[in-house]
Parts: sequence; C-alpha cells; structure tokens
Amino acid sequence: MYKNQQPIPDEYILMSERDREERIRAIKANLGSKMIILGHHYQRDEVIRFTDYRGDSLKLAQIAAQEKEAEYIVFCGVHFMAETADMLTSPDQKVILPDLNAGCSMAEMADIDDVEECWNRLLAKYSQEIIPVTYVNSSAEVKAFCGCNGGMTCTSSNVTKIFSKLLDEKKSILFLPDEHLGRNTGLTLGLRNQDILLWSRDHSEDVELPQQAPKLILWDGYCGVHQKFKAHHVDEVRKKYPGITVVVHPECSHDVVEKSDLSGSTDFIIRQITAAQKGSIWAVGTEINLVHRLALENPDKKVISLNENTCLCISMSRISQPHLLAALESLNQGNVVNQISVDPKITADAILALNRMLALV
Ligand code: SF4
Repeated sequence: MYKNQQPIPDEYILMSERDREERIRAIKANLGSKMIILGHHYQRDEVIRFTDYRGDSLKLAQIAAQEKEAEYIVFCGVHFMAETADMLTSPDQKVILPDLNAGCSMAEMADIDDVEECWNRLLAKYSQEIIPVTYVNSSAEVKAFCGCNGGMTCTSSNVTKIFSKLLDEKKSILFLPDEHLGRNTGLTLGLRNQDILLWSRDHSEDVELPQQAPKLILWDGYCGVHQKFKAHHVDEVRKKYPGITVVVHPECSHDVVEKSDLSGSTDFIIRQITAAQKGSIWAVGTEINLVHRLALENPDKKVISLNENTCLCISMSRISQPHLLAALESLNQGNVVNQISVDPKITADAILALNRMLALV
C-alpha cells in the first residue's frame, strides 16, 4: 500500500457537498480542455459524476493518450491505473491520483523481487519456453519484467485470446498476479488441474517444480473484493429468485464461476445487463459501486449484488469528493500534486509488454 498521502485540509471535508460540487464545476470550467477527469467503473458516485470518461483501466489509459490537449489527467482509480496512463501519455502530460494511498491490493501481491526469484527458478529447471503474462492490474515494474522477458500484459477481456495463442504455440505461461483469472481462463481453454502449478509467493521454497514444465504457472495473488463471492451465494440467489441470471467477474474463484451463468470483464457485465430483457433479474458478482449504478441505470430490470454484504473496493473508494476537490484546487493554482510518474526505463520495457498485447488482440 502506498502511504505517502498527506492529509488534505479540513475545509474540503467540512464544507457542504453542495459547495464542494459547485467548486469542482467551477474549476472544471476554468481549466477547460487543459484537464480531463477519468473514473474507473468501481468509483464512488460522488466522484464518478464529475468524470469526463468512465471505463476500465486500460480503456481509460488509452483515452488519456488520445487526449493530447489535456495537460492534467486526473485519474480516479488506483495506483497501477495511473501508472499505465502515465506510461501511455506524452511526457508533457501529468497524471494525478487524488489520493496516493489508493493502491490495488492484488497488484501489490506481486513484488518484483519475488517475481524474479520465481522466474530464475523456472529458467534453471526448464528448457521449455515460458512466457510471462501479467494482468494489467500489476505494477509498472512487473509489466516491465514481462516486456523484458518476451512477455505481455492482458486484460480480463482479452486474456482468453492471449492464453489460447500461447498454448497453441506449445508455450508455457507464467501468469501474474491473479490466480483466479488465470485458473478460470486455463480451465475454460481445456487445461486440467494437473497442467497448472500454483506458485506460493510466501512459501516459494516449498514449491516443488515437477519434472515437465507445467502448461500454466499461476502466481497466488487475488482480489479481496471478488474473493468475497462464494458458491453458496449462487445457490441462495437461485433459491430466492427463480429464473435469475448470475453473472460474475473472472477474478472470482473457479467454483463461483462454474456455478454462475456468465462470467466476463466489467465491460462484458455492463453489456449483458444493458441488453437484457425488461423484467429480467440479475445477480452480479463484482464491485458494489458498479452493481448499484447498473441497478440505477436499468430500472426496468432487477439488479442485485450476488453477496448482500457489501463488496466494496476500499482502495478505489479512498478517492472521495474532498480528495478530488483538493487535487483540483491545487491544479487550478498551477501546483501539480500527487503526480504519478514512472521511470522512463521501466516505461520503455512495460510498453513492450503492452504493445505485444495490443498486437495480438
Ligand atoms: S477491485 Fe480488486 S483488483 Fe480491482 S482495484 Fe480493487 S482490489 Fe484491485
């Protein structure tokens, strides 16, 4: 977790929501095209209503890269998303994260030194070609590691295509950092559990490498939000709402995905529910802010969370309206605060990994 956020002045917390919103609107009008505000789907409503674009992490970073006029890119997401935006934008564009403590716990589970230790052991043991693939929910350093070692990034939308291509080419895959996205994808493509090795980051010395290179080696990271959905929740909603459709994100564990009707990225979930028939009932296994918004935007359908006990991304929700206003006030005065800036060498290597992904999909 990044813990270098200075407390914001009390005035931003104590002022009324109405005053804060007026101030945010006034600053947006004053800065005009010099600033854009990006918001991830999991962001709070009080923040998302001021964003110019809403989307998943990669889509937002690509939008930032296209918005050449914008000198300030205020990213209402988490740290790795702001890093990706910084890497894809030009050097004169500045990416700002309104709360520097907004880190993603899953991305932080893949420490670069641990990843390199794993990689060195794999290389020492196997002659088989192994390609490192990292979910975009990872640090710039891990992306750079993949870029340097012939690997690539992936998203939850394109991971199946990327795995499929590499497995067809008879290459093994080291997948970082989300065990569940990797396992769900591998099993969907016909791998068996015995083709998959789980690498324990905390007990790496206990990991026994089999004689033959596994087809898929999974880092044991996970998302604490999607981990909260359990198979019994699927049974419970089916009992309570006969005819319900259950859709979950593939960061959920395999037993949950297996019991659900559909599984896919946030964009996939949004498209499914938007296109669904009037009167249909949906249980959604993903972050609660997105589920609430889907319910509000689809009043002709019933949309509920698969787990009634709030599944909130606490990291993302650190970016509150007071934090957004504090960052904007500084920018309005010409002071750049909370800038996320990735080392140029790391950027160059990470871009290799991002470009290999884009070339494949
Ligand atoms: S929902 Fe999970 S993977 Fe996404 S930012 Fe939050 S902790 Fe990270």
